Amino acid sequence: MGIRVQARCLDCGMTFAVDHGGGFLFHLLRCDSCGKTKSVGFDELGELHLRYLKGLQVLSSSASAARDRYIQESASVERISENEYHRGIEALAGKCRCGGKYSLDAPPRCPECHSTRLEEGEATLCYD
Ligand SMILES: [Zn+2]
Ligand SMILES: [Zn+2]
Repeated sequence: MGIRVQARCLDCGMTFAVDHGGGFLFHLLRCDSCGKTKSVGFDELGELHLRYLKGLQVLSSSASAARDRYIQESASVERISENEYHRGIEALAGKCRCGGKYSLDAPPRCPECHSTRLEEGEATLCYD
């Protein structure tokens, strides 16, 4: 579940929208140098996502329980930890055009001056 909030840069005064969090179908990454966002869909992750689900020991809701059981029983995929999963996503997202690296935990930045000193207001939009 992600939200979009209105943010204001404390350094240059620019206002802009900041997205937080990924959805049910994708991860949201952020460039660690300019703050540009990039989404990576679970379907783009392929086996990586499958291996991560296999590593999870939590029982999920009934809707996906059957699928998760199938994944856990399929012997061909190797389990990975959350850290390995995150590193894999970041490797897949690659580099930003500015030369920075897309990261899952880089802070939002002002698109104008790249400051991280932002004041965030109310959520303006919720998205999956
Ligand atoms: Zn700024
Ligand atoms: Zn960048």
